[in-house]
Amino acid sequence: MPQERLYRTEAIVLRQTDFGEADRILSLLTPRGKFSAIAKGVRRPTSRKAGHLELFARTNLLVARGRNLDIITQAEASEAFESLKTDLLRFTYACYAAELIERLAQEEEDDGGALFELLLGLLRWLERERDPAVGLRHFELRLLDGAGYAPQLFTCVSCAKAITEQVNYFSAEQGGLLCTECGASAAGVRAVSVNAQKVLRYLQKREVVEVRALWLAPATHAEVESVLLDYIEHVLEREVKSATFLRRLRLDLQRLAAGEQSSASVERPKT
Ligand SMILES: [Zn+2]
Repeated sequence: MPQERLYRTEAIVLRQTDFGEADRILSLLTPRGKFSAIAKGVRRPTSRKAGHLELFARTNLLVARGRNLDIITQAEASEAFESLKTDLLRFTYACYAAELIERLAQEEEDDGGALFELLLGLLRWLERERDPAVGLRHFELRLLDGAGYAPQLFTCVSCAKAITEQVNYFSAEQGGLLCTECGASAAGVRAVSVNAQKVLRYLQKREVVEVRALWLAPATHAEVESVLLDYIEHVLEREVKSATFLRRLRLDLQRLAAGEQSSASVERPKT
């Protein structure tokens, strides 16, 4: 069947790569999956499209099919997420989320728009909510779920017995929690507190609107973050670049913001 030469789609800009003298290749997430397209002349100051194709912008596109890369002929942003650019920590969170999507989502894989909605929900969260990191933890769990890597948190990955309310173990290798009996003798596992297990299960099963009211004690959040990062790195089989940057950045910000810190989130220091 001949394909239409022109098509319309909504998209979120995941990554921009400069190309040639004035062009940019964009990695885009649409409700029907991920794809790349070229925006010609978009780095010229006179470009009318440029303002509508910024990083993380939600934008309506008119695209022409090209021989190698599709070509963006029109763009009109509907949500720009401008404020993310003025907050380094939130901006880095968004970069990290985009990197995870690029690494975990398959090209042109149609999931009925679930991933698109998930990222949109996170970008809105990062722009508006007091504690940006809780939204990111929720995003990580839901993304893993969508990509077929949901960690098993309700039953032991080894003996399949229901996980009971006590300190249990997490195995990145086996993809979930181990009961005390199985975990005590297993290699490469880490103990996980009851609170962290509860938070992981809660985040895995809830929608973003339900998670908004959640407040996490800093120690619990740090534990949940660390369990998830170990697991994600295992899934990706190499270190997530922006996660490493994020850890460094957060240490720096913590030093700067010592005394201003009230929860697991680190507020950007006022200058
Ligand atoms: Zn077991």
